[in-house]
Amino acid sequence: METITMRQAKDFVGQEVYMNAWVTNKRSSGKIAFLQLRDGVAFFQGVVLKNDVSEEVFDLAKSLNQETSIKIRGIIQEDSRSNLGYELLVKDIQVIGESHDYPITPKEHGTDFLMDHRHLWLRSSKQHAIMQVRNEIIRATYEYMNQEGFIKVDPPILTGSAPEGTTELFHTKYFDEDAFLSQSGQLYMEAAAMAFGKVFSFGPTFRAEKSKTRRHLIEFWMMEPEMAFVEHEESLQIQEQYVAYIVRNVIDHCQLALKTLGRDTEQLEKYTKTPYPRISYTEAIELLNKNGFDDIKWGDDFGSPHETFIASQYEQPIFITNYPKDIKPFYMKLNPEDPSTVLCADMIAPEGYGEIIGGSERIVDYDLLAENIKKFGLSEDAYGWYMDLRKYGSVPHSGFGIGLERAVAWLTGIEHIRETSAFPRLLNRIYP
Ligand code: ATP
Repeated sequence: METITMRQAKDFVGQEVYMNAWVTNKRSSGKIAFLQLRDGVAFFQGVVLKNDVSEEVFDLAKSLNQETSIKIRGIIQEDSRSNLGYELLVKDIQVIGESHDYPITPKEHGTDFLMDHRHLWLRSSKQHAIMQVRNEIIRATYEYMNQEGFIKVDPPILTGSAPEGTTELFHTKYFDEDAFLSQSGQLYMEAAAMAFGKVFSFGPTFRAEKSKTRRHLIEFWMMEPEMAFVEHEESLQIQEQYVAYIVRNVIDHCQLALKTLGRDTEQLEKYTKTPYPRISYTEAIELLNKNGFDDIKWGDDFGSPHETFIASQYEQPIFITNYPKDIKPFYMKLNPEDPSTVLCADMIAPEGYGEIIGGSERIVDYDLLAENIKKFGLSEDAYGWYMDLRKYGSVPHSGFGIGLERAVAWLTGIEHIRETSAFPRLLNRIYP
């Protein structure tokens, strides 16, 4: 007899199988016991009929504690009332591992308590659903990038220089030298783009951000494409096509997870339509000032209430383009139509989820880059290799970075980014 998971259930309807599972809950009345089970793949019900099993098995079913692991023999049945569509008619149960006093009970718990027990909290149906969506975004990302001819290049995590200055960097020692944990792989990806054309990286990045918001993690995953011979406008088109692609795949492949999370798929459908609206930084400032935001003027960066307001004027994600050069990093290309601004854009997600992508066209010219490196007070020695990219066949190129966890929070509709990572690193929390 085969041991299966719920992934295979549809091929085993009416057949007797073994399944390995954990008990999440149970209830019984007289002649019947219902076990709520999870096998890692799905949450489902096991039905134990008193007349159908031995007395020992029925008594055992009634006495199983939450999170006991069990091996079950039973028959897969269709069950139109369950989300999954299948249940298990139990014939026999064997305990694999006992469980006593599981700390997370079906009652409500506070966030701190749940975060302290993150290693166990992950077992809940909500966390399971969030990780399904995260996994789908990762899968669809690789699929899209491969289809579009990008190759994956992995930039280093230990770096000697930093793309955007050193304020938010994690410092460490590299033998006798100073080193930092990567806050972006971009500069290395620019080198890779000059070698391979269209490249992307997908890996962890670290920011020692002291801000405690529902959108910031200290360690998060970023996907960073970099494209040779691609100018700003084309880069925006690639960004919206890519985001629409991951939304489409999440809708199509995560139906159960979205249902568990109560996420309205009608709403998500709107985000599969491109192009996404664009508004320039300058227009955005005017819009804010006209609508009672007196706290911001041209030259200031947006705070999250600003981004939320601007995004709320639209039904889709939007691009805010052409920020002032003084509030953006040294490598961005000046906007030829207004050199007080740069050729960049942030993609702002709807529903208050804020910036999910930051991107720009990069400076091509050696002298302009050298000038900026000086102006920004960066070390010319550390950036020598990066300058080389402008010396030997420099070409127009653009790239962007999307934060995986921001995308997961947005598409799942959850309140706080901490639940998008299995073991989030937050300000004041590095345990468990
Ligand atoms: P913010 O202004 O929201 O802090 P940023 O301007 O520092 O973001 P970028 O440096 O452009 O962001 O990084 C690219 C993307 O990485 C962002 O659009 C976002 O999706 C993600 N990101 C940046 N910082 C964080 C963080 N601390 N936690 C999670 N994701 C982040």
